[in-house]
Amino acid sequence: MLLTIYSCNDAIKRLDDYLDRELSSTELVRVERHVKLCQSCSKKFKFEKETLDGIRAKFNRIILPIDIYERIEQLLELESGNKDNH
Ligand SMILES: [Zn+2]
Repeated sequence: MLLTIYSCNDAIKRLDDYLDRELSSTELVRVERHVKLCQSCSKKFKFEKETLDGIRAKFNRIILPIDIYERIEQLLELESGNKDNH
């Protein structure tokens, strides 16, 4: 049989790889097939995916200011300036 349907255990075991898109296409199809048929796994996969998406969105929002190096240089100059004053 080409499309063996995974058990919940089989699907859950592949959850991380599924989210990391590291499954082979066969595994991917099998996992998606199981998740479509199984409500509890469907909820779990959805929850994990949303959590992961949330984390990724947060990381995407952290953008370094363009002038960060300039600011660091200014801080260093300030610091060395202070040392000269003391
Ligand atoms: Zn299941």
